[in-house]
Amino acid sequence: MNSRRDFLQKLTASAFALPFLPLQDLAAEKNTVPDGPVLRVAIMGLGSYGTRVAEAMKDCTRAKLVGVISGTPSKITDWQNKYGIPAKNCYNYENFDQVKNNPDIEAIYVITPNALHHDQVIRVAKAGKHAICEKPMALNAKEGQEMVDACKKANVKLLVGYRMHFEPKTLEIIRMRKAGELGRIRFFQGLCGFRSGDPNQWRLNKQLAGGGSLMDIGIYAINGSRYMIGEEPVWVTAQETKTDAVKFKQGVDETIQFQLGFPSGAVASCLSTYNMNNLDRFFLDGDSGFAELYPSTGYGPIKGRTHKGELTQPHKTHQTVQMDEMAAIIFDGKQPEVPIDGEEAVRDLKIIDAIYAAAGSGKKGELKL
Ligand code: NAD
Repeated sequence: MNSRRDFLQKLTASAFALPFLPLQDLAAEKNTVPDGPVLRVAIMGLGSYGTRVAEAMKDCTRAKLVGVISGTPSKITDWQNKYGIPAKNCYNYENFDQVKNNPDIEAIYVITPNALHHDQVIRVAKAGKHAICEKPMALNAKEGQEMVDACKKANVKLLVGYRMHFEPKTLEIIRMRKAGELGRIRFFQGLCGFRSGDPNQWRLNKQLAGGGSLMDIGIYAINGSRYMIGEEPVWVTAQETKTDAVKFKQGVDETIQFQLGFPSGAVASCLSTYNMNNLDRFFLDGDSGFAELYPSTGYGPIKGRTHKGELTQPHKTHQTVQMDEMAAIIFDGKQPEVPIDGEEAVRDLKIIDAIYAAAGSGKKGELKL
């Protein structure tokens, strides 16, 4: 650890003014040669997931944490000490538009409560920086589209933290499905949930979260049904159940079951909940075989099997892979196997809008993605 700190201090003193991190220094630190320039990232929102991303980025070869944006001065100091971040790369929520004049920061990763993503990403775009945003990208499809438009207008990338799109066992199932090894796909089941704790957390506040379990965890089943089946849904039905109306207030879903229909006739049956444990399972069924992931979207290791046997692809820390892949997308124009751009997120948000509408009306909704 000391050598890392020494390295960071040296870097802070000597290299932050350079357009890219010096590759030979990074290579010496990692004992690897990065395959291209290194993406210099600031994290906005130093909470639990921001911390996980920062820790994972220590092992990146193509992405580097160089700045922070936070409303809490003591957290900024902690992070400066921990990650060797110079004072000139630290901002708060009022002044971060000034990052416009800071060539050391190329991308800002927004890891704040859901309701803040829209305005923050648009400000990032206006500052001329690439925006990386956590899921759900916004509270609804309209907001999401405005973010996509703002980033296009500013000629910056908008990428979303869909870490499962780089997960090796997930990608193997997608490969098998594309190669026809499962035959015609008929059915996907996505079970996503956990028992949420503190009733006062922002995730149970409609204004900050935009909804309940569906925004936070059910989105994995929505997104997963699309990349597992390999089609876009054309209809949706949904049913909401609530057992605790004090904890899960109006507009904050405790449990939602939803069904999606796809053009080929395949169907998805999914459950999203904040009130059941042990739910983290994907199941894909085709005429010639099946694939199962359990757990399917946690931080890993992901485990799974198909009709051919156990999946054995090695685990890699999701956020490390994601950030290196994002650098390759930004610098090299790399196309990921499953997209992680703003448009991909807007499709999920359209489905979320339709699920909430269908749960409210009890009627089948049409989807046009
Ligand atoms: P968290 O509560 O741990 O952190 C949120 C951070 O935002 C805190 O540092 C908080 O101080 C800051 N913040 C700024 N303005 C705030 C405000 N007005 N109210 C409350 N907090 C404010 O939350 P988290 O778990 O880190 O989640 C942040 C985002 O990351 C969410 O969008 C969540 O969906 C997403 N997330 C993604 C994953 C994933 O696996 N991709 C996992 C966890 C969270």
